[in-house]
Amino acid sequence: MSTPQNVAVNGSRLWQSLMDMAQIGATPKGGVCRLALTDLDKQGRDLFVRWCEEAGCTISVDKMGNIFARRPGRDDSLPPVIMGSHLDSQPTGGKYDGVYGVLAGLEVVRSLNDMNYVTEAPVEVAVWTNEEGSRFAPAMVSSGVFAGVFDLDYGLSRADLDGKTMGEELARIGYAGDQEVGGRKVGAYFEAHIEQGPILEVEGKTIGVVTDCQGQRWYEITFTGQEAHAGPTPMVRRKDALLGAARVVDAVNRIGMKYGPLACATVGLMQIHPNSRNVIPGRVFFTVDFRHPDDGILKAMDGELRAEVERIAGEIGLETEFQQIWYYAPIKFDESCVAAVRKGVERTGHSFRDIVSGAGHDACYLSKVAPTAMVFIPCIDGISHNEVEETTPEWSTAGCEVLLHAVLDRANAMAEQVKAPA
Ligand SMILES: [Zn+2]
Repeated sequence: MSTPQNVAVNGSRLWQSLMDMAQIGATPKGGVCRLALTDLDKQGRDLFVRWCEEAGCTISVDKMGNIFARRPGRDDSLPPVIMGSHLDSQPTGGKYDGVYGVLAGLEVVRSLNDMNYVTEAPVEVAVWTNEEGSRFAPAMVSSGVFAGVFDLDYGLSRADLDGKTMGEELARIGYAGDQEVGGRKVGAYFEAHIEQGPILEVEGKTIGVVTDCQGQRWYEITFTGQEAHAGPTPMVRRKDALLGAARVVDAVNRIGMKYGPLACATVGLMQIHPNSRNVIPGRVFFTVDFRHPDDGILKAMDGELRAEVERIAGEIGLETEFQQIWYYAPIKFDESCVAAVRKGVERTGHSFRDIVSGAGHDACYLSKVAPTAMVFIPCIDGISHNEVEETTPEWSTAGCEVLLHAVLDRANAMAEQVKAPA
């Protein structure tokens, strides 16, 4: 069946839902702190589930706590077209990162209800657990389990800095579901998201058609030197672990600059022991985050980091624990799904450009088990992972319109694909 031209979404209802969800974990500076599997995350999930049930969806939850809200299709045996993203946030996060993709998906369902429109294939809205990787590393772990990148035991045993595991915390908040994780056919996956960078806004484009996703490598490094009194210990006798870490921070920055403008290199977390002003730091734990769309360059960055860490530790006399805790190769999204997004942009008449995602998204893992694409909308000044993160109701509506068209394109094409002779 063909996709009607006159479909619409209710942009103000979507905006209101974004504002309502942002009340849960709201920070005084206008952002959101809703860390994965906390009581606030539970409240956000509960609100989403209630909205979906009010929209007539049936809810299922898998063993990683991923939530699926299903709107049946005319042929409910067809694999679903899934829209989604995440509801967890960074500690000083914004109102739209992740939440936009989830609630734009819900708005698509609500709009289909308003139009009494039945898609051929079922449509689902997914919430992926712990996308941010802030409380439990690595990021996107639950969509990763869904895609078979990690096994279930690995996912459930991820622990926060207090030693609480995802499995324990899922059970505590009542989202340890009974469904197996993944292993079912997905017709297509679409994720709408704020860009989290400045390109669309600077170029005056409303929609980013995401064609690729950068590769990433995450590291955890511990330097161990010797704690000593800050007064009586001469400079030349010190084994200062923080000095070593500081030199690595500088080296990481140099590596990022060397492979610019597409490379990103960040040290974002550091723990100093014993963290006392008159003790020479004996042990420092810190992280490194490398990104690049070219796998070969990412490998070169990896080699340079390893060499620098070894050199710096040798200079100061530090013991080193060095672990690459996470890697994924750059991703190319599915051509037919990207084409569906592009068709959606043409039908709605919004300005657009092709774009590479600089951030990791659940869509990156989903692309391993389902035809996948993403829709970006601008965010003001490109700022994200920040309480001042902002977008506009117009951009929000535009992205949801494009999402609706892309979903209809795939959900209705599914029947034709199944019926077509082999
Ligand atoms: Zn996100």
